[in-house]
Amino acid sequence: MGDKKIPRVTLPPDVRLDTLAVREGLPRSPWGENSEALFLTSSFVQPDAASAAARFANEEEAFIYSRFTNPTVMMMERRLAALEGTEACIGTSSGMSAILLLAMGLLKAGDHVVCSRSVFGSTIMLLGREFAKFGVETSFVSQTDVDEWRRAVKPTTRLLFAESPTNPLTEVCDIRALSRIAKDSGAWLAVDNCFCSPALQQPVKYGADLVIHSGTKYLDGQGRVIAGAICGSEALINEKFMPVMRSAGMSLSPFNAWVVLKGLETLAIRMRAQSESALKLAEWLEQQPMVERVYYPGLKSHPQHELAMAQQAGSGGAVVSFIVQGQARGGAVLARKNAFHVIDRTQICSITANLGDTKTTITHPASTSHGRLTEEQRLAAGITQGMVRVAVGLEDLDDLRADLLRGLDSL
Ligand SMILES: *Cc1c(COP(=O)(O)O)cnc(C)c1O
Repeated sequence: MGDKKIPRVTLPPDVRLDTLAVREGLPRSPWGENSEALFLTSSFVQPDAASAAARFANEEEAFIYSRFTNPTVMMMERRLAALEGTEACIGTSSGMSAILLLAMGLLKAGDHVVCSRSVFGSTIMLLGREFAKFGVETSFVSQTDVDEWRRAVKPTTRLLFAESPTNPLTEVCDIRALSRIAKDSGAWLAVDNCFCSPALQQPVKYGADLVIHSGTKYLDGQGRVIAGAICGSEALINEKFMPVMRSAGMSLSPFNAWVVLKGLETLAIRMRAQSESALKLAEWLEQQPMVERVYYPGLKSHPQHELAMAQQAGSGGAVVSFIVQGQARGGAVLARKNAFHVIDRTQICSITANLGDTKTTITHPASTSHGRLTEEQRLAAGITQGMVRVAVGLEDLDDLRADLLRGLDSL
């Protein structure tokens, strides 16, 4: 890239995250808009042929064509990079296309990946099945057993991929320990930070090289658009991912980028409020006689509670899972019936597998997000028929308790 750069917003050098979340982006256009503009344009007019040539040759940084450069997308990228504490970011059309771009940018046939067994289901499919077709091999290991990660590394290992906490069991991995393994083996560590968002957890602080996002979740935060991003060093973003974006085009639409950009302004206060409600809901669920077990990193009963508190700014996040009683008395059939009963009795919660919304969502993982697994795989993953997952939104907490009690009380 030449000397001519797209200018930056002028802010005092020491501003904090809450300020960056609202102010980072691009300088205002000559019209002086206060809310960031939505640049719905596929291409950009060049001042003359020579400038066009310099820009296409990457000698001058400027907007060319929205498959790889757009001001609204760049505002979202700069704001998210600031929140994650990385130099750069590249927006993608979805969370999955961020992982697709990650793999296309870093891996070639013969390379090996070590990935947690508990990551998002489509990530397992993409790495384990789709990329296997192109000669990339993936070993799946325990989310929490650091030694298993180390043992799985081979001379061809190029990437370690983790997600924390996981869905729906909220298992927390030790990002710092994984980053040591990555550094020792000359591999990159990528962390899917969807569940915490940078408001609670910044994986690069613990040594991750790259951070993956589904903007669809907390970054938008209101369940409106599909979006994704990779955050990392300028060198990795410019050299590994930009060229792939330019030729493969898993581009983030300016409209979706704009929605996420505005969502980022309220990210921290939403995460704080939703996590506070989630903790209170989890504590309350632990007291309910019809609840067998609660999974939430903010609870002292959670196996990685201490690690989660250190890694996630003292917060458990906003996703709570619990097991409804029934398995002991009537096996998987009764457990499932009871879980369905609790879900179907709600009058406020949305029955949907999405999360990260201001609207609380409720789902039965065993028959939805993890429905494609065999019962054996599901049990190995710890996902039983009695499990219910709640992604806590911004409704009144008493109303949410009452909503869950409708089913729990009538079992
Ligand atoms: C939803 C999700 C994804 C995929 O994101 P999309 O935007 O739906 O493509 C990836 N990882 C995690 C942890 C998710 O929850």
